[in-house]
Amino acid sequence: MGINVSEDLKKGSIEDPDCIMCGECTGACKKGVLRFGTRKI
Ligand code: SF4
Repeated sequence: MGINVSEDLKKGSIEDPDCIMCGECTGACKKGVLRFGTRKI
């Protein structure tokens, strides 16, 4: 989707409207720092 995951993570979360929550980035992260979640708005 062209999302710069590494850069977005410096902000603490990925909240890009282009994210389709496919899970590719969470599966690819060898250190396990990425996970899906919900938050209260
Ligand atoms: S979940 Fe998919 S679309 Fe969203 S940032 Fe990760 S790889 Fe990109």
